[in-house]
Amino acid sequence: CGIVGYIGDRNVIPVLIGGLQKLEYRGYDSAGIAYLDDGRMTLYKEKGKLAGLEKMVAGKCAEHTVGIGHTRWATHGEPNQKNAHPHINEAGDLAIVHNGIIENYLQLREWLTRKGVSFVSETDTEIIAHLIAYYLKDDLKEAVSQAISKLKGSYALGVICERFPDEIVAVRKDSPLVVGVGKNENLIASDIPAILEYTRDVYFLNNGEIAVVKKDEVMLYDEVLNPVNRDVFTVEWDV
Ligand code: GLU
Repeated sequence: CGIVGYIGDRNVIPVLIGGLQKLEYRGYDSAGIAYLDDGRMTLYKEKGKLAGLEKMVAGKCAEHTVGIGHTRWATHGEPNQKNAHPHINEAGDLAIVHNGIIENYLQLREWLTRKGVSFVSETDTEIIAHLIAYYLKDDLKEAVSQAISKLKGSYALGVICERFPDEIVAVRKDSPLVVGVGKNENLIASDIPAILEYTRDVYFLNNGEIAVVKKDEVMLYDEVLNPVNRDVFTVEWDV
């Protein structure tokens, strides 16, 4: 339901939690964050209100790093901790957050199961983490592009990986996603209020577009990974 992501020098944990708080008005049943702490994927998720998640991460600090957060409005799989996002691959070094619905997730789940992948949740989302991991070689955006070419349905996605600590890869189709452009820090979010504290400069992603979001650079690509040039849009209103 709500997505936020951050890469930069601040303590990523309050940035993610604060961003998710700004998206609370949309409603949710569980919440979670994933970030790299000293290069290791670190994951916290909890059923219920953000206050529960906040308690889990109280006093923790992870600066100069990257992270993603999610508030979930369950569509497939009951609202509980294991179905909460972020979802990870089997190795646990790649994490994703997803808004939307994957219509062909059962076929993809069967296909991945035949390849020996085991699942821990009942969500339509988890297959995406395993699919990206399945295609991942030396370029995260290429793996994301290959994975989404198999998906039917709607998605806004944020992806981080231990092997690519300097980037968030984001993509969307029929679910909203914006990239917030800061100074030496950049963000992604499903809605502008989540990032306004940090920047008013945004890129709106078109359907099928992929963003590679680094600390000091944002690159946009179309469906076949041709670079896309876009002017930054400056948000003038207050929310
Ligand atoms: N379909 C996904 C799930 O049920 C994402 C739901 C959402 O957009 O919050 O986990």
